Amino acid sequence: MISVAITGGIGSGKTEVTNYLISKGFTVIDADKMSREMTGAGGKAMPYILEHFGSSFILEDGSLDRAAMRDLIFRDPEKKLLLEEGTTKVILEDIEAIRKERAESGDKALFFDIPLLFETGTETDYDAILVITADYDVRKARIMARDDIDPAIIDLIMDTQEDEERKIAMADFVIFNNGTLEELHDAVDMLIKKLEF
Ligand code: ATP
Repeated sequence: MISVAITGGIGSGKTEVTNYLISKGFTVIDADKMSREMTGAGGKAMPYILEHFGSSFILEDGSLDRAAMRDLIFRDPEKKLLLEEGTTKVILEDIEAIRKERAESGDKALFFDIPLLFETGTETDYDAILVITADYDVRKARIMARDDIDPAIIDLIMDTQEDEERKIAMADFVIFNNGTLEELHDAVDMLIKKLEF
């Protein structure tokens, strides 16, 4: 089973692609979401937080006091490392368990939702990279239709992200999402076929 990172700029269609893959029975791992869940009430990382940071970082409901932790790790890089060490360990254990279970179920690919793959330099962690892209104006129009957001802010976000051409050059698979949702789904079906053979 291969690990495929799904990436792409803001508004490129990553969520549409991941939802479609999930509807087809594939697993898409969202590490940011896992990280939030494990520090929620009763989350798997909470015993580690208690042991290494103490009860003053835990709210009454048993979840992480994010504001207090943000303040601490902003001031103390060693504490930041200590936090990452614990959360990364739990995430990796969870991913390994999912990987084993999906491989046993016969899946040929395990997908990872990594919006900032190139920006964070983690592209070598995966066997293959799928870049979702669409023309600048198409992405901007879709974001404006989806979110109540100032167009100037969209331009700012898009300008800080890695250049589309460079992403495409580093990809193993590219889906150009300028067309309809049906065309997008067809492109994902074709990708699945490629991955399964
Ligand atoms: P972000 O990085 O901002 O989370 P994203 O890459 O996950 O964005 P989506 O949320 O999937 O992008 O798509 C942006 C918007 O465009 C959504 O409202 C989505 O439904 C819509 N959209 C995506 N692809 C298409 C398409 N081919 N046709 C019509 N609408 C689309």
